[in-house]
Amino acid sequence: MRISSIGHKAERAWDATCQTVKSVAHKIHDAVIKVVDFVLPRNPVTKRREFRFVPLWMENSLGLSLFNRACPNDKICKDPILVNRVENVFKRVVSQCDRKELNYEIRVMQDDKTINAFCAPGGKVIITTALLRELQKDIPVDAGSRDVTFEDKVAAVLGHEVTHAAAGHGARSIQLGLLIALVGKIVSIVVPRIVLQPGKNEARWKYETRVRLLESTLDIGWTVGGFFFKQHHSRCHEFESDKFGIKYAAKAGYRPEGALWIQQLFMKMDKEKQAGKPEPEMFRSHPFSVKRLEANRKTIDRINSVGIEKAFA
Ligand SMILES: [Zn+2]
Repeated sequence: MRISSIGHKAERAWDATCQTVKSVAHKIHDAVIKVVDFVLPRNPVTKRREFRFVPLWMENSLGLSLFNRACPNDKICKDPILVNRVENVFKRVVSQCDRKELNYEIRVMQDDKTINAFCAPGGKVIITTALLRELQKDIPVDAGSRDVTFEDKVAAVLGHEVTHAAAGHGARSIQLGLLIALVGKIVSIVVPRIVLQPGKNEARWKYETRVRLLESTLDIGWTVGGFFFKQHHSRCHEFESDKFGIKYAAKAGYRPEGALWIQQLFMKMDKEKQAGKPEPEMFRSHPFSVKRLEANRKTIDRINSVGIEKAFA
């Protein structure tokens, strides 16, 4: 009896110790996750962890000031039917977006020359009447995107623009620019002073000239390298916005093939503008439309074969 009672006590003590260890491990795990979430939060769109130091208030205030400057009240389109059609598509696309904390807003800008849509940080989207006019045209496109409606095409454009804001592309570009400038400055100041030493009988001014020369060379090299890196980064954002824009448009009930129609329109416009001499891609902030068309086709094929949720899981 006595031995059995001691055995039970030991068992209970062991269980209690295990519970305490488990609870401490849980607390440590939760604390680590909180720290990681704070330092490297997940992007609400891509779900990837990323470094972020531009706060939400900065995104919002910067976006609002850009929005008001790019499309002041006197430039807003006065056609209520067109504006209403675009706003309805916008509301439906935004309702499917993965980032709800932003104050999304759209303005149709009365500009019959500039074919453009634009998204300022914080979810402020502008689309021009010139682009909307293009979307109403009948252009030769492949069989897969021939039957898309005006609304499907608008949804493709707005899905793309909303993704820029939801994924924080503006903030990420600002961060990248600041980091490149900061690291470049440190490198160009520190490296010349480490690799260059004054000669035995070298005059001070000669040594300082050599240091400044290397400093300027590194500055120029870093600026050029930084430019190409930023353009590459921007092209990645475009692919990302195309992909998730298709998701939001499709979830909102529009035909995702609208995104194929848009790229075929851009291909036609590029051909007319560049007359067969496109600039090298490394200089461009946007990928070639032919590549975007291919990528969009893959995204849509995947949606059609496994469904929207699985295609983006
Ligand atoms: Zn874009």
